Amino acid sequence: DSYVELERTTVTYGREPNVVRALAETSLRIAKGDFVALVGPSGCGKSTILKLVGGILRASSGYVYVAGREVDAEPVRIGMAFQNPTMLPWLTIRDNVMMPLKIVPPFRGEYRRKRKTEFRDRVEALLAQVGLKGFGDKHPWQLSGGMLQRASLCRALVHDPQLLLLDEPFGALDQFTREELWSIMQQLWITRRPTVLLVTHDLREAGYLANRICVMSARPGRIVDDRVFEAPRPRT
Ligand code: ADP
Ligand code: ADP
Repeated sequence: DSYVELERTTVTYGREPNVVRALAETSLRIAKGDFVALVGPSGCGKSTILKLVGGILRASSGYVYVAGREVDAEPVRIGMAFQNPTMLPWLTIRDNVMMPLKIVPPFRGEYRRKRKTEFRDRVEALLAQVGLKGFGDKHPWQLSGGMLQRASLCRALVHDPQLLLLDEPFGALDQFTREELWSIMQQLWITRRPTVLLVTHDLREAGYLANRICVMSARPGRIVDDRVFEAPRPRT
């Protein structure tokens, strides 16, 4: 009864004789609504798992299921944010953040029919929440790395995703801003309860946000520890 499932999944990069095996018959099952942190040394296959689940990458063998189906056909709304945010440079931050509303169902249809101001308000509210009030009109090159990371988090959240794939989304932030965003993420998880897969090097971050921590070993694709914790409750 899992929401995200890798079943004996193998991923290799490159061609002989330079083949890199990133996952080797790796299996992982994630229940709906869980917040899973993936931790482990650099190169152990964390990003590869996220890319598989996001449908960006295909497995060399084995299966990847999301909501009971192979990942191809828009089964769920997925939000993604990466360590190095990619924004379309010719669009404003607002239009970049709005992009999922234009292309992901059911918002895609609503976006064509409804008044655009509703969607603008939604984006402005999100930007304000992460401290980017007033930056919607700017272009990506006018923002710092940390600001882009916050904008990319807004883009990941704007279409109320059922599944969130986050690859070190807070890496470029100072400690203060980072902890503010942890708190926003936690609140969002408690209220909307998306299924989250977070790659992080920060064990404090994993402990703060996740209710399950999977530790991978340097031998690629091996999950060597897997712990479930009590889910955090809303603070009063
Ligand atoms: P991490 O985010 O864990 O520090 P890396 O910095 O090792 O990950 O890699 C970042 C991204 O660069 C990876 O997700 C992958 O797409 C790409 N990458 C990593 N290693 C290689 C490689 N040997 N050749 C080409 N691309 C790579
Ligand atoms: P992590 O996210 O844990 O750092 P990755 O999933 O990015 O690990 O990478 C797993 C392994 O695959 C590493 O050895 C990395 O160098 C290699 N790798 C990742 N992306 C590529 C790529 N595009 N081309 C070649 N090798 C890659």
